Amino acid sequence: MDTKMITLDRAHLQDSDFTEAAALLQAGELVAFPTETVYGLGGDALDPSASAKIYAAKGRPSDNPLIVHICDVKALEKLASTVPEEAYLLAEKFWPGPLTMVLPKSDLVPKETTGGLSTVAIRMPSDEIARELIRISNTYIAAPSANASGRPSTTRAEHVMEDLEGRIPLILDGGPVQIGLESTIVDLTGEVPMILRPGYITLEMLSEVIPNVTYDPAVLKHEKQDNIVAKAPGMKYRHYAPKGELTIFEGDLDRVVGKVATEAYHAALEGHVVAVLCSEETRERYARGNLYLVTVGARESEESIAANLFHALRECDHLGADRIFGESFPEHGVGQAIMNRLMKAAGYRIEEA
Ligand code: AMP
Ligand code: MG
Repeated sequence: MDTKMITLDRAHLQDSDFTEAAALLQAGELVAFPTETVYGLGGDALDPSASAKIYAAKGRPSDNPLIVHICDVKALEKLASTVPEEAYLLAEKFWPGPLTMVLPKSDLVPKETTGGLSTVAIRMPSDEIARELIRISNTYIAAPSANASGRPSTTRAEHVMEDLEGRIPLILDGGPVQIGLESTIVDLTGEVPMILRPGYITLEMLSEVIPNVTYDPAVLKHEKQDNIVAKAPGMKYRHYAPKGELTIFEGDLDRVVGKVATEAYHAALEGHVVAVLCSEETRERYARGNLYLVTVGARESEESIAANLFHALRECDHLGADRIFGESFPEHGVGQAIMNRLMKAAGYRIEEA
């Protein structure tokens, strides 16, 4: 299959930009498209065979459910069998935006889309291309991140091409995404609302609307714990991983830099192709040795780190790095989500500096 890329001009979007994509979706085919979080691999959420195609194209285990994307709050009542008051409050405050809510699913949603679960994850993206695509396709779009399963999520159309060329018919290119980390997932089906995946919308932000919200215990783990069952099935798989072996160092920043520099230097001496994941503030401190320096972003702007993280991980692959050493970042605010992704990318290979 040839994979076509259509580049859209965000300043002049027209309905006709979406004709081909909408026709494909209505025919049960797949289309990759930008959202404000990451690029999504979309299929008609109500068509079980489209969901099957999503799993096949990504190589994703079929027990890992898909998020259903909507462009109108009214869809909540169609997709969920019951909608608690909290869901409306959260929608009011955070939609459209990077928040996904898990609710009991209605009969309309096929089990193929929810990975066999009786719940459904729903999000209204703020990206205009995403919303127009949903509106013009006149359906709901199931869309996981548009990467090959296990690889870093896709934050640019070129990343999607890299992973899925030949596997899907169309990519809508809307340029680099705004946020760069997947949505926050909050489960509203239990007694207490639980964050299953941290994202740009933080616990602090959510607790202004639902004060009793907490993290699912699996989110806070710094190591792989097989005895803790991840409620978002996707969180249990190896994820976001670059091809090289990534090790993250945490602790006092000066010591982290020292440790990363030493480890990287020695690995390079041993003949490894070595990349260092650094920040703008620390970059010049890695002057010694034959190292590739990959800047994730600026410490003074955690948004810049979020936006660049997956691109930086892919950059390490392009450089052919087989050993990657990285700094950690403070775990408050969006930092919680940044470190969650980074630790998974490292396969929990975290060392104290
Ligand atoms: P992705 O779209 O690639 O970010 O993956 C979607 C994430 O949402 C995965 O981690 C899924 O496990 C999670 N998810 C989707 N539906 C549900 C659900 N019904 N309950 C819990 N987690 C879900
Ligand atoms: Mg994903």
